[in-house]
Amino acid sequence: RTVSEEKLMVAVRVRPLRTDEGPRIVHVVSDKMLVLEEEADSRRDVLRQRRVNDKHYVYDRVFGEGSTQEDVYDAVCAPLVGDTLRGFAGAVFAYGATGAGKTYTMTGLMSRALSHLFASIAESEHPDLFEVKMSYLEIYNENIRDLLNPGAGPLELRDEGGSAAPVVAGLSEVKANSAAHVAELLARGDRARTAEPTHANQHSSRGHALLSVTVSLQVENERTQRGRLFLIDLAGSERAGMRARRLEGAHINRSLLALGNCIMALSGGARYVNYRDSKLTRLLREVLGGRCRTAMVAHVAPGGSHRDTTRSTLHYAQKASSI
Ligand code: ADP
Ligand code: MG
Repeated sequence: RTVSEEKLMVAVRVRPLRTDEGPRIVHVVSDKMLVLEEEADSRRDVLRQRRVNDKHYVYDRVFGEGSTQEDVYDAVCAPLVGDTLRGFAGAVFAYGATGAGKTYTMTGLMSRALSHLFASIAESEHPDLFEVKMSYLEIYNENIRDLLNPGAGPLELRDEGGSAAPVVAGLSEVKANSAAHVAELLARGDRARTAEPTHANQHSSRGHALLSVTVSLQVENERTQRGRLFLIDLAGSERAGMRARRLEGAHINRSLLALGNCIMALSGGARYVNYRDSKLTRLLREVLGGRCRTAMVAHVAPGGSHRDTTRSTLHYAQKASSI
């Protein structure tokens, strides 16, 4: 595979404007570019300042508010599902502040990815040689919870040593038979996610949710080819200070910060990347290590009342683009 295929793909999705969030300040210019309008000092020439201050951002893809779930799936996720069937790993992250549209996007990607997987398997020569298993977990305050078995206590992340991926001890791995079966499992998992009412969104999720889909294909009697797809709905990226509980904000930031640090280190071509800083980066080591295709969809709201979080999301995504 070529190097360009292993690059991190960075996309930005702008959700529809709501009436309670001020005038539109994010303008999609093309399918690769958007503009963030900056505030002008009213004592000066407003139009001229705008031309100077407004910032253009360029990404691999920009999805405007007219974009559909299919548009995002086809561009961002479908190629990774193909990889998974061929025995590779892939990951899609949803990044952005609470209320910006992460869960909306990931819900669409999760159901489409699984339908696509089952349809491809059914069309293959030997559907019976494939096995699809899924697990769904939440990382909340650096604790791992099993979303398919929410009653169980926090699970331990164990390193198996060497280059082997760490294992979440006791995590349910459910054999999935059909898209309908998966939809039911995901709905059950989503109800178990830790949520709180905030001013930004009534059902914001406080933790990172990570769906992992493993596709095994029995190639010969003894040998099994294994592909893996991770779909990750990250916790809100807004600052810890805006969170009700300090400790929680600090933990959420620890994972996001560690992820950001890994991304920055990789973008600078670092030889050594510290995956050990958080549960999230430990779990995602195999995908962050660059041996597979990875996509990040950063989410922003288009209204003026979100200017600061929008700017910081666009900035983060731009840094990630240089990987
Ligand atoms: P987040 O998970 O980032 O906190 P959500 O996905 O819950 O945000 O989105 C916040 C609200 O906006 C929800 O009511 C969701 O249905 C709506 N929404 C988000 N993105 C879109 C979109 N692309 N099209 C239509 N509605 C959307
Ligand atoms: Mg959410």
